[in-house]
Amino acid sequence: MQRILIIYTGGTIGMIKNEKGFLQPFSFEHLINYIPLLKSFPASISSYSFDELIDSSNADPDFWIKLSKIIIKNYDDYDGFLILHGTDTMAFTASALSFMLQNLSKPIILTGSQLPIDLIRTDGRENILAALELACMNENGTPLIKEVCVYFENTLYRGNRTTKFSAENFDAFISPNFPSIAEVGIDIKLHKQNLLKTNSDKLIVENDFNNNIAILKFFPGIKAETVEAICNIKNLRGLIIETYGSGNAPTDDKILKEIEKVINKGLVVLNISQCTVGKVQQGKYETSVKLNDIGVVSGKDMTIEAATTKLMFVLGKNLPQSEMAKLLENSIAGEISE
Ligand code: ASP
Repeated sequence: MQRILIIYTGGTIGMIKNEKGFLQPFSFEHLINYIPLLKSFPASISSYSFDELIDSSNADPDFWIKLSKIIIKNYDDYDGFLILHGTDTMAFTASALSFMLQNLSKPIILTGSQLPIDLIRTDGRENILAALELACMNENGTPLIKEVCVYFENTLYRGNRTTKFSAENFDAFISPNFPSIAEVGIDIKLHKQNLLKTNSDKLIVENDFNNNIAILKFFPGIKAETVEAICNIKNLRGLIIETYGSGNAPTDDKILKEIEKVINKGLVVLNISQCTVGKVQQGKYETSVKLNDIGVVSGKDMTIEAATTKLMFVLGKNLPQSEMAKLLENSIAGEISE
């Protein structure tokens, strides 16, 4: 029997309405009372509940580190981990974990729900049970999935490829630039060709983040003063520019000068497209040539969630600018198409 640890962090799945009518996280006991089938699930299931349950809008690097430490502490005793988490920042947590815990030999699957577990039409019950089945998939006891994933509404995704795109439908997530890892219907179809392949099975654990970063989203009419203000944020260490289409930005000299100054100070500037599907290709249009020239790093087809957490992670390593750039534009945990 596979041994799975369920880690409950909060999120809609276990929320109830407080006296004012607002949804807030409630206990793990409350949550599992609504899934009696768990008792007969063919696996050895244990649980760990955070003392302070959160709405995932409050997640931050300290929360990711806490989560990774719980996984590490229990790593040898379990064959897989299921994290119950709010959907709002699930893609960020999944991305952060994929960088913090490299060369996994077992699955870490995040799931949650759009409707609380105590509602008749909840999607939480199915999400938990199917995610557990996926976490248990093995060949002679050896787990088949060895990476951080997000499971939602019949689909298993590589976690650092996901983005929350619906606050309304049950299928809240998409993986715009990478195919799914498994589809759950009458049968579970595991797409083995899409599983993460690693060169080593030696677990790497790294828990340092530097969140002195900012995201500068371009829009038509953006003022050079706005760009200047963001580029001069105190203690800024890294900047993501959210550009148009395949990585294009206004060619206004004043704007580009501000970005160039940031790079000349030794900081990294990472280019991520505002488009969900596709990739940054600096130099394809005239409007991105200058970005290339001044040393902006291409984020290629990374999601903004993967890019944000990766930038914090890479900055946490205290490396020279060129080495940070190299790490950012190459895949660490399958977050970029090579
Ligand atoms: N605000 C909630 C959270 O992210 C939404 C959810 O769980 O779906 O914790």
